[in-house]
Amino acid sequence: MPELPEVETIARTLRPALLGAEISEAEIRWARTIAHPSLGEFQERIRGQSIQEVDRRGKFLSVRLSDGYLFIHLRMSGDLVLQEASSPPGKHERLRWRLRRAQAGPAEGQALVFSDPRKFGRVWLTEDPAQVVGDLGPEPLSEAFTVAWLYEQLRRHRRLLKPLLLDQTFLAGLGNIYTDEALYLARLHPATPSHTVTREQAERLHAAIQTVLQEGIRSNGASIDWVYRGGEFQNHFRVYGRTGQPCPTCGALVVKLRLGQRGTHFCSTCQPLREYAD
Ligand SMILES: [Zn+2]
Repeated sequence: MPELPEVETIARTLRPALLGAEISEAEIRWARTIAHPSLGEFQERIRGQSIQEVDRRGKFLSVRLSDGYLFIHLRMSGDLVLQEASSPPGKHERLRWRLRRAQAGPAEGQALVFSDPRKFGRVWLTEDPAQVVGDLGPEPLSEAFTVAWLYEQLRRHRRLLKPLLLDQTFLAGLGNIYTDEALYLARLHPATPSHTVTREQAERLHAAIQTVLQEGIRSNGASIDWVYRGGEFQNHFRVYGRTGQPCPTCGALVVKLRLGQRGTHFCSTCQPLREYAD
């Protein structure tokens, strides 16, 4: 599933072509892709809107329109690409926004195409961003995400680190890849109870989260899903997907366990689980 660096890469890639373009119409090929509002209202309200900003919030792509906001969540397998507006729809195309410009520009004659083999991706059109992203935790690369904040929240939550970090209402944008990589860099076992984390460990975790996300963005994300093919961070994974291969630090074999129903990769030597008195 695309995480913060992959969605950030998509936003950066699409931004130059989309800014200032006008959406002439939306062609919906899979009704459930539209989470809000109704299909008819979506098509009616999107027509003639111009694109003012292309951004990201957590794992959502956010598009500010002349009147409202478009939010797109790619979920398991969604992808967004620019194509010739006249190109025939691909097998997995779910939605196509036809674009035009007042003056000839990069989006002239093009369409933004949302394809999604597994059909879990969703699109919202709303006047109130809080309706879609209001519950998200802070952005891990923003000034709101400080060591003091993280330490206090870890103490307060009393949950295991891996599922807590995956919780988008706690912190926005981390998924399975970047959580495993961050916990490894911070030398913290994924099943560490969050309230037992020391201030020094919280500092390491804070730095590790920012480091792996910035590395991911620099690599244009990771190409491990069967749709997203933009980046090469998969060549730099330290533990994610490396079960049975040597840990880059100590040479012990990377192990995998299921935690909160998610496959979790770590090094049991570098990330030991300690006994906690609670
Ligand atoms: Zn190790």
